[in-house]
Amino acid sequence: MAKKRIIVWFRQDLRLHDNEALNDAISLGAEIFPVYIFDERVFHGKTLYDFPKTGVHRARFIHESVQDLKDNLRQLGSDLIVRFGKPEEIIFNLARILRTNWVYCNRERTGEEVRVQDALERNLWSIGQEVRYARGKMLYYTADLPFPITHVPDSFNTFRKEVERIVQIRKPLPVPSRDALAVSFQHVDPGALPSYDFLIKGQKVPMSAQVLLHGGESNALKRLDALFQEELMHGGGTGDSAHYLQFDSMMSAYLAQGCISPKKLFHEISEFSAEYNRPELLDRIFHRLMYRDHLRLMAKKYGDRIFKEGGVVSQSRREWKKDPEIFSVWATGNTGVPLVDAIMHQLVNTGMCNHRSRKLAANFLIRELEFDWRKGASFFESLLADYDPCSNWVNWMDLAGLGPDSGEMRQLNYELQEKRLDPDGVFVRKWAKA
Ligand SMILES: Cc1cc2nc3c(=O)[nH]c(=O)nc-3n(C[C@H](O)[C@H](O)[C@H](O)COP(=O)(O)OP(=O)(O)OC[C@H]3O[C@@H](n4cnc5c(N)ncnc54)[C@H](O)[C@@H]3O)c2cc1C
Repeated sequence: MAKKRIIVWFRQDLRLHDNEALNDAISLGAEIFPVYIFDERVFHGKTLYDFPKTGVHRARFIHESVQDLKDNLRQLGSDLIVRFGKPEEIIFNLARILRTNWVYCNRERTGEEVRVQDALERNLWSIGQEVRYARGKMLYYTADLPFPITHVPDSFNTFRKEVERIVQIRKPLPVPSRDALAVSFQHVDPGALPSYDFLIKGQKVPMSAQVLLHGGESNALKRLDALFQEELMHGGGTGDSAHYLQFDSMMSAYLAQGCISPKKLFHEISEFSAEYNRPELLDRIFHRLMYRDHLRLMAKKYGDRIFKEGGVVSQSRREWKKDPEIFSVWATGNTGVPLVDAIMHQLVNTGMCNHRSRKLAANFLIRELEFDWRKGASFFESLLADYDPCSNWVNWMDLAGLGPDSGEMRQLNYELQEKRLDPDGVFVRKWAKA
């Protein structure tokens, strides 16, 4: 009997290890055609507030990640079919040309991504094919949780208590073998990646831009090794600025593009912490990965409300200002508050800043400038190298006091914050003029 043929559509799962869609397809003994589409709407489109949908830092990170995936597949006798355009049209055409049976992919849950996968599914039905979905974005499987999505506790602490001790984190799946992946590309040209310049068409790379991280599964695993070395040498922490404004694991961009899976990260850190007696590292990362899952579950539970002005509570707590000049003062790092301005410069020049910095900058826009939080979230969406719809929008919504379990809105004393977080002024000096 002829082998089945399957397109595996890589999305935000740019890896070979622990890739459920890839593994499911291989388990059928099928011929696998790996595909990645640079979606024209994602690279040349705009956010809700007219910022470039994918800023220069994330575009570079994704470009490197896709190239790494292609290289790794080639080493295993396969290749990655790469195109630029609309996935629902291009994959549909590939499915016709290659006469495949199914398209396998990891399921996305946020609005825009769901609309694309639904459109592809409808197109495939017209030729008797369908999309088969797998999972892979979370630490936990929703099927393993003790409650359905609609009943996920709004409070993270309750969620954690109900899940942490009773739900096992599954083991990551291995990298497929060469035999499982080898396939002939005689009927289709795998194609090359579009250039980085093409992807960022119309955008300027800032004069003082710095690359903090290179994309790809190979670099994610190197970053993990570096994290272990840092932990062994001086108990964790990277970077060269004030301690509180330093990065932690710096895994977020790799997690966002799926260059590493949360399960793999968890199990690698568990093994390391058992071997070298570092329970705090495991505790810290475990807690944050659980938090990340909780935000994703909140996004599933409340759908598009996470993008609305009134958030999940469906009522705005104040009249937000909308004057573009006020926004520009914040976005260009010209508020006159040195710490906030330095954070914004770091963000614009690197596409990254640590968690505390994000909270401070967002808080300033929301509380001090009383500006529409969604424009801030939209600006971060454009800039962040590690942008993830659930993590970004739910964090912003919470800070605006509009999440299902948001605390009271707090006014911060920025002078005091600067004294506490950057006592020697290292961070502010470094980023003030960038
Ligand atoms: C306004 C705002 C916007 C944010 N937008 C994003 C975003 O678009 N993408 C993103 O990955 N994170 C976002 N975060 C969360 C967090 O700031 C980053 O994940 C973190 O700074 C990344 O650094 P790290 O990898 O060193 O994290 P670590 O502290 O080492 O944590 C390990 C991992 O846990 C996850 N994580 C940690 N804290 C959070 C959190 N509060 N929310 C969600 N995940 C978390 C990340 O994947 C991170 O890589 C945002 C936070 C705020 C306040």
